Formats: sequence, structure tokens, C-alpha cells
Amino acid sequence: MKSIKDFLRNDVEDISKLLCLALNKTQEQLYANLDYQLVDTELSVLLGYIDQRKKGKPFAYIKGSQGFYDLDFIVSPATLIPRPETELLIDITLNLLDKNKNLNVLDLGTGSGVIAITISEKRPKWKLSATDLSLDALNIARLNSTKNIDFYCGSWFDPVPPETFDLIVSNPPYINEHDPHLQDLRYEPIEALVSGDDGLNDIREIINKSTLFLNSGGYLLLEHGYDQKDRIVKLLEESYTSIKTFKDLNKVDRAILAKLR
Ligand code: GLN
Repeated sequence: MKSIKDFLRNDVEDISKLLCLALNKTQEQLYANLDYQLVDTELSVLLGYIDQRKKGKPFAYIKGSQGFYDLDFIVSPATLIPRPETELLIDITLNLLDKNKNLNVLDLGTGSGVIAITISEKRPKWKLSATDLSLDALNIARLNSTKNIDFYCGSWFDPVPPETFDLIVSNPPYINEHDPHLQDLRYEPIEALVSGDDGLNDIREIINKSTLFLNSGGYLLLEHGYDQKDRIVKLLEESYTSIKTFKDLNKVDRAILAKLR
């Protein structure tokens, strides 16, 4: 027989979260019942989770969901796991535009839908559209969505109807294909992470075509890699003005906002 306490001594990563999941308990309940002996069915579920986690599967994929901002989102291996850094895009957006106006906002490469859905939850008057190349990802986004968001399947602007937006926001792939850090991300969809030799292929395409889909004075807001700020400012300068850059919680350059000239 094994108790909660026995497992907590284990050095498996995320062991307390795996215990909560297997036993359907909160962290508080877990620590209040340290001597609880797991029954056979709980044990076999937990050992299955531990096995997956030891092989490197991220906890969010084992659980099938991940918190973002103040909401919880279903995730699958078809979608990137939402990162806390991406919450910066939400904060910038909510501070930028008037919540009482009927604005038109587009999220490119929505994945599990976190950006579009969080914005639409916080700003019910705005009309949200979202695209993704992956139909599997869009199906997860649709499951996550409670509001009326228009989802389109295709590459960047290709599936977007001929309309213009007040804000285009995106967390595109931006890691370069040689980055050794990709080894740690092997469970996540590579097409949501990697963007060519310098990590900027998708950002270049988005910047180039965005001007056709923005209202005059409309904004483009992008998440990017830690060393890409200066190169992206250069790309934006041709058509954009009022370029502002933002650091994430780790004080790393992470987002850029620009206004169409
Ligand atoms: N921020 C993620 C990471 O470095 C990458 C997300 C992305 O490419 N959009 O793990």
C-alpha cells in the first residue's frame, strides 16, 4: 500500500499536480490527507500519469487543460500550451482600445483560442475573428469558445474575408529552426513554434499583409522571441508608426505594438 505522503517524497516532476489529477483532489485536500492510502484504481491511474510525465509529456497535455489569464482552456497535442508570457498581449490589448466601442479584432494562429477567447470574454462588445492553419487546433478553440467568434482555417490572412480590423494580434511561431531549446518542446506542434532560419518567416508575412486588413490607424500587436525586437522594428517602420515594445514578466523583450500610418 502507498500513501499520498509516499508519493510526494518521489522526485517525479509535478508529482503533487499528478496526485491531484489522479485523486480528483485540490492541493489543499492533498496536503490535508497525507496518510490517505491509494486504492488500486487510483494507483494504476497515477502510475500511468507518472510514466507519461517521466517520458517528458508536459503536465498540461496529461491533464488536457491549462490556465491562461483567469480562464481554463482545453489543450491537445494539436495546440501549443498557453504560456504566461502571452498574457502580456491581453493586458496590452485591454489597455489600448475603448471597451465600449464596437471594434473588430483578428487573432492570427489562434491555437487553442486563448487570445481571441480571453479578449472576447473581457470585451463583449468587440467582434472577434480567429484563424489557424490546423483544423485540429481550431476544433479545440471552438470547444473552448463560449462567445460568438468567427473561426477560419488557413494560413495567416488567406482565409480571412475581405474586411478590415481595428486590431490584429498574433502569437505566431518565432523560434529559429536551429534553436537547441526546441528539444525541450518536442511534445508541442513544431509548426506552432518554428519559423524558418531566423524565426521571422511568419512575422515577416504577417507584417507585409497586415496593412491590407487594418483600418487606418489600426494596430498590429505581435509576440516575438527574446532577440528579435530590433529586427521587427525595422520591418514595421515601412508602414507603421508609434512603435512600442514590451518586456514580459522575466524582463525579456516579448511583444511589439504598432499603428498603421
Ligand atoms: N514562447 C514559446 C517558447 O519559447 C514559443 C511560442 C511561439 O513560438 N509562439 O517556448
